[in-house]
Amino acid sequence: MSEQTETAEGKKTCEFRAEVRKVLQILTNSLYTNKEIFLRELVSNASDALDKLRFRQNRGETPREAQLPLEIRITLDKDKKELVIADTGIGMTEQELGENLGIIAKSGSEEFLAELAGQAAAAEGDKKPVDASQIIGHFGVGFYSVFMVASRVEVYSRPAFGDGSAFVWESDGLGTYTVSPSEEAEPVRGTRIVVHLKDDAEEFAEKYRIDGIIRKHSGFIPFPVLVDGEKVNTQPALWREPKSQVTADQYKDFYKSFTYDSKDPLDWLHISVDSPVQFHALLYIPDEAQEFRGPREDEYWGLDLYSNRVLIQHKNKDLIPPYLGFLKGIVDTEDIPLNISRETLQENRVLRKINQTIVKQTLNHLEKMVKDRPEDYLKFWKHHGIILKMGVHQDFTNRDKILALLRFNTSANENAEEVSSLEEYQSRALEGQKTFWYVTAASREAAKLNPNMDRFRKKGLEVLFFYEPFDEFIVSGIGTYKEWTFKSIENAEEKDLEAFADKEDATPKAAPLSTEDEKTFDDLIARMKELLGARVKDVVVSRRLTDSAAVLSSEDGVTSAMDKFMRAMDKNMEVPVKTLEVNREHPLLRALLRIFKADANDAILATMINSLFDSAQLMDGFVKDPQELASRNAKLLEQSASWYADIKKL
Ligand code: ADP
Repeated sequence: MSEQTETAEGKKTCEFRAEVRKVLQILTNSLYTNKEIFLRELVSNASDALDKLRFRQNRGETPREAQLPLEIRITLDKDKKELVIADTGIGMTEQELGENLGIIAKSGSEEFLAELAGQAAAAEGDKKPVDASQIIGHFGVGFYSVFMVASRVEVYSRPAFGDGSAFVWESDGLGTYTVSPSEEAEPVRGTRIVVHLKDDAEEFAEKYRIDGIIRKHSGFIPFPVLVDGEKVNTQPALWREPKSQVTADQYKDFYKSFTYDSKDPLDWLHISVDSPVQFHALLYIPDEAQEFRGPREDEYWGLDLYSNRVLIQHKNKDLIPPYLGFLKGIVDTEDIPLNISRETLQENRVLRKINQTIVKQTLNHLEKMVKDRPEDYLKFWKHHGIILKMGVHQDFTNRDKILALLRFNTSANENAEEVSSLEEYQSRALEGQKTFWYVTAASREAAKLNPNMDRFRKKGLEVLFFYEPFDEFIVSGIGTYKEWTFKSIENAEEKDLEAFADKEDATPKAAPLSTEDEKTFDDLIARMKELLGARVKDVVVSRRLTDSAAVLSSEDGVTSAMDKFMRAMDKNMEVPVKTLEVNREHPLLRALLRIFKADANDAILATMINSLFDSAQLMDGFVKDPQELASRNAKLLEQSASWYADIKKL
């Protein structure tokens, strides 16, 4: 309070302090989005006032009109353009009215004020409104936000304890306010605020609009909020209840009303912690995969942050790391004030602490799920594994915990549905094995057909099947896990595998070539090289193939999946030039040798060599010219069909 004049009726006119005046001026004259949060502020104040009263009642004090229920009533009058909010809380004395409503909580710097004024002016210029929560957050001007929508405000208050006299605070939010004795009967206890709405704020006299705002921001406050006599906040804040008193059905119902999901959640975690920070959290794992990608990605993840049951921010992204983005739910803490601004929120230490606790508890929870409810864990993995996986790169501290939660389909699994953990893979490994072998492929069938699989099958070495190119990136940064390394079967060298004996092989081996045939085979290879030209780096006899006729390889250690991924990033659609390795023992190559020996320039030989190369490229995942490939195939098929008919004498 500063300058003060008093009339005979006890009406005191006071001037707002310079700083308050400036803030008010900006509030009343600027364009804002999100004006509706003025109501969140008034409802929170009312709820606090009721809390204070309840506290004193619990200490044994008796307020006036003790039979009155603890509640908040909002009444609307469209014709009068009026919104009235009344609570039966603690109330304010004459002095408190002046002190509490005449100042602003935090003082802002002159620079910030100037910046804000500039912003507001600019906003008016190009009609690009400013988010109201910014200024409210910065100054903690909860109550004053009402002047965004009000041309005049009256605050009638009768304290719950004291002599029973009531006073009224009035202002148009311009330069002054008055405090005077009130002759009104209402409120009999607590505070009644009459908001005279500006012309452009008439919407706040509409019931559906107010109902919506209350449900959105104040749906969980612990006292009934009645709008024109109808209770609007029907949900209890379940997260604040003791866990032992909440039933599974209550948890599920809450989830559905909160997410609009029609399906029950797969699981939930209810966390209540007092240190290092105080917070309650109710976190759900949905029973279906989440859609995160796309332009509106940001709207899909994050937790709703509440301060003492009042919503501060939807989908806050500081409360969980992205790899736990599948979690849906609520965090409620009393350690963060309602009026905190976005910027302060982001660097908030409290949020970091909450984040750490949630990460720890969620990972522990998942570990427990693996042990106690393996089937549910598999469902979880199927829906959300792709998100959790990112944690290997995002969270170094918890990396090993996350790796233990990963699941892969492997060559040892019966079918594509079955998955194994890295630990299971290790338990089945061969004596002396210290490598997790993997291959990237589009499907289980494709993985099994990869020519590099031959050697691994022969030695009985299990191979992890990666179905997403991203998987390779995840393991590429790991180094070691439980003292083992990850390596692609495409990069397996002779020395990596020589320690493991071949299993007994029932398939008959091709007869060794004579010295002369060996030389002719070298000539055949030279012919192939000539024919394939710039499409290959080289053609060589393979030492790793058993069941397949040919494979493409590159010596630089980049796997074909990784290569494709990088090319896609670069938008480089060139087909890489690699070395063609051929299997000299394979019946196909032996047949080509026979043709070559008879006539080195046979036209069909050339077609077949091209076709062999096509297949190797297909297996590698690159095809430059599908038309050419298809027409070559058609020609070969046509010829072999007619030979077949001839041989069979059909
Ligand atoms: P904040 O709520 O952050 O303290 P406000 O500007 O919203 O800031 O309110 C200032 C003060 O006015 C509150 O701290 C409270 O003491 C008092 N007040 C506001 N509304 C009420 C109410 N309905 N009943 C009792 N006291 C109130």
